[in-house]
Amino acid sequence: MSDRTSSPLPTAAALTTAVRSGERTAVSVAEEHLARIAAGDDEIHAFNTVMADQALAAAAAVDEKVAAGEDPGPLAGVPVALKDNMCTRGVATTCSSKILEDWVPPYDGAVVERLQAAGAVVMGKTNLDEFAMGSSTENSAFGPTLNPLDTSRVPGGSSGGSAAAVAAGFSAVSLGSDTGGSIRQPAALCGLVGVKPTYGAVSRYGLVAFASSLDQIGPFAHDVTDAAMVFDVIAGHDGRDSTSIPEQLPSMTEAVAASQAVGIDGLRVGIVTELSGRGLDAFEPEVVAAGAAAADALAAAGAKVDEVSIPTAVAGLSAYYMIAPAEASSNLARYDGVRYGLRQPGPNTASMMAASRTAGFGDEVKRRIMLGTYALSAGYYDAFYGKAQRIRTLMISEFDKVYEDFDVLISPTSPCVAFEFGAKADPLTMYYNDVCTIPANLTGHPAMSVPFGLGAHGMPVGVQIMAPAMQEADMFRTAAALETAAPALETQGASE
Ligand code: GLN
Repeated sequence: MSDRTSSPLPTAAALTTAVRSGERTAVSVAEEHLARIAAGDDEIHAFNTVMADQALAAAAAVDEKVAAGEDPGPLAGVPVALKDNMCTRGVATTCSSKILEDWVPPYDGAVVERLQAAGAVVMGKTNLDEFAMGSSTENSAFGPTLNPLDTSRVPGGSSGGSAAAVAAGFSAVSLGSDTGGSIRQPAALCGLVGVKPTYGAVSRYGLVAFASSLDQIGPFAHDVTDAAMVFDVIAGHDGRDSTSIPEQLPSMTEAVAASQAVGIDGLRVGIVTELSGRGLDAFEPEVVAAGAAAADALAAAGAKVDEVSIPTAVAGLSAYYMIAPAEASSNLARYDGVRYGLRQPGPNTASMMAASRTAGFGDEVKRRIMLGTYALSAGYYDAFYGKAQRIRTLMISEFDKVYEDFDVLISPTSPCVAFEFGAKADPLTMYYNDVCTIPANLTGHPAMSVPFGLGAHGMPVGVQIMAPAMQEADMFRTAAALETAAPALETQGASE
């Protein structure tokens, strides 16, 4: 584990240890975090909804269990924030869209149930790019989230609110969803650990669908141990998600502890040439250098590091921006002014639906719906959607082949550090941000981002670790080693 003495924010592990031992009450922990939210969130806008009353009640219930000598759960008293595309019973779940602004789900998502059963204290629902479409949180219908490390810059996206909540100390950990990088990229831009699990490892029950064959829920945390603790709580089979994997994953908390004890001697690490950013203008030199330094650090820690080529890796970007919009156009057809949310009047059903969708969706969502509908339409299906699916299949076979010789693969997480608001107004420039993260969504493999030093403007850089399906233990093991080797994270600090 890294030395976190430079940070004033306690880890989830430290908080739950204090709560479980009775050294601190969960209520005092919740109050402290609510006070930080009250002081700072008007500016940062990490939250769409703060659940102060529910948080204090949940914390009091934890304290009662501790007082009664009962086990309050592995995350007892840990303040957690949820991306606002995860259903919470009785609490608005907006997807940062006007079309769902007033929608209140009648049920909790599977991850919400699991967190609550583990004693975690839900602080609120965090801002996102509308329907999770974006890489900066600028596409939220309710205004952007600011990066707590430098408020002139974006926190990344689409789970920018969840990343900012942890970086600002509003919650100790949080959950995001990752369809093309939306956990890993904001984690990188906010100096956090962010994990996208194997597709099917975490239940999507109660996650508002964007692109169902790619969506996964995962944690944000200050360090690898905290990320592992949350991962262990949210992973596991759930019959309510038809793509949920029945096999049980080993404990990541134990994998991290074992790595800290025995290291990564002999681990086979591949640097993916096409994703390294070398020779590409779109990659900042500090980011490329951090990727190389991370590889050197793993080699110094005993790993066997080699470079490996995966030619289809870069084609993933084009394939993703066909497949994800195609699935989104189908998933978002349900917002029709009848069953959910916003309804605009019209003289007949068709015009009512058109008016509701026109008023309810923002520009980026409309762009995706049009792209997806086009890619799926008769006459274009083979040329666009069909071709993208063939690239996806080819990519899966290339990665499978490479994983015969490597345990994990590494690359930068994002081509650049946190950028300024408005800097990537052209959609294609924004899409390019996902070039390194998208392959793991298309293959369904796990991947995570770990902070590794600072880049331009003193902003954090993230290194991505990818692993074969269900091999999260090796991924977490590598992450723990990288964390130990990472240069001290002295960011320029929160701006006032
Ligand atoms: N930035 C990507 C997109 O806009 C990924 C989003 C995500 O992972 N939810 O589609």
